[in-house]
Amino acid sequence: MPDDKIKTISVVGLGHVGIVTSVCLAEMGYNVICVDIDKNKVELINEGKSPIFEPEVPELITKALNQNKLVAITDVQRAVTNSEATFITVGTPTIKGKIDLKAIKSATEMVGKGLADKNPYHLVVVKSTVIPGMTERVVIPLIEESSRKSEGTDFGVCVNPEFLRESDAVQDFRNPDRIIIGSNNDKAGDALERIFSDLNSLVIRTDIRTAEMIKYANNAFLATKISFINEIANICKEIGVDANNVAEAIGLDFRIGPYLLRAGLSFGGSCFPKDIQALISASNSVGYNPILLTSVLEVNRKQPLKLIELAKELLGSLNGKNVAVLGLSFKPNTDDMREAPSLTIIPALIEEKANVTVYDPEAIRNAKKIFRKKVKYASNTLDALKGADCMMIVTEWDEFEKLPLAEIKGLMRTPFIVDGRRIINPETVKREGFKYKGIGWKD
Ligand code: NAD
Repeated sequence: MPDDKIKTISVVGLGHVGIVTSVCLAEMGYNVICVDIDKNKVELINEGKSPIFEPEVPELITKALNQNKLVAITDVQRAVTNSEATFITVGTPTIKGKIDLKAIKSATEMVGKGLADKNPYHLVVVKSTVIPGMTERVVIPLIEESSRKSEGTDFGVCVNPEFLRESDAVQDFRNPDRIIIGSNNDKAGDALERIFSDLNSLVIRTDIRTAEMIKYANNAFLATKISFINEIANICKEIGVDANNVAEAIGLDFRIGPYLLRAGLSFGGSCFPKDIQALISASNSVGYNPILLTSVLEVNRKQPLKLIELAKELLGSLNGKNVAVLGLSFKPNTDDMREAPSLTIIPALIEEKANVTVYDPEAIRNAKKIFRKKVKYASNTLDALKGADCMMIVTEWDEFEKLPLAEIKGLMRTPFIVDGRRIINPETVKREGFKYKGIGWKD
């Protein structure tokens, strides 16, 4: 264990970030008390089950429980009192385009109350994504008020933005590109740097506000890259050029790079859409109109509907047609459907009066809570495609790349494929007698 002073760490908020942080800190040798107000999550973790679908997490929970390195509870104050450092990892969603600080405020207040009865120095780490200025204006004053202690002497605060990618989250925690530590005094920053010292990563030390801004700028750039290539793909289709060839070639320019340069549907998930929206709103509130970021969101809003246009090019009216939607999660290897393109595409299909059958390897449970009886739920790909007039690929799960084409052709009513992720080779499926349309595909 790298820090000889900090042995026990509490983690408040057990979503993707909190769970991954908890199990990875336990793997590093710390004793971890993880906390959530959601009793179900706490019970699941203590039973050795993961509340989220994320590779390696179930095994790490079991290992940490067996080594007595992890316990989950619902009492934030107790967790803080019994630890030397606390990571705050609660959600920061947007409501009507603005960041909602309800969870962070209530968590922070509880952390402060936990500190009230504690004498030794305590480190508080804000890992949740918060708008620049919020830690100084909201988090620190709330802790000081509820603990009646002073930041800098009794406790320290750092901002440590999280960059993990869902579905690769554990690997990203273990091998970060860099660790950002924002603090307004060295004592807090040094303590957090020691906690992470075993990760042997490049550490960037900044003040608190800069660390907060780095997270938003990072996400804004990545989201812009995705909307950029989607816009290029839409132009490519109209002028008869394959967008994939263009993306591959420009990705080789080292100033551009190949990552996130694959034309497809919108960016979704729990971060990009809400963070760009929150940054736009924060910019407006200081008198700056960020027109580029507004356009990035606008391209993203419209992009899933391109798939409906492609389906209509093949089928004409969708009224009464059987459409099999393959993939519901916002990306493969997760069951997370937050802001997923399927949430735009499926209601649009229903609006067009199509009969919709959906299949996803992991997200069906979440989908049932959203679409209830409005769609049919298939238990596998072939089941979804029985009698279908059109296959619509919405998420690029591996299994959709290796479809048994001859068998599928026999199952479908009309062999039409609309590919939102460009995972099907158009020439191969055309040879098998399918009609194909794909985002950015020249036809
Ligand atoms: P989430 O919304 O999935 O989970 C948050 C958890 O916090 C929930 O389980 C909720 O019950 C709990 N919670 C709320 N109030 C609480 C309180 N007062 N005390 C204890 N628990 C409380 O969030 P997430 O996706 O893990 O994201 C957490 C933060 O990390 C957000 O700010 C997000 O923007 C940021 N982030 C997320 C990702 C990601 O991929 N999910 C990546 C980087 C950064």
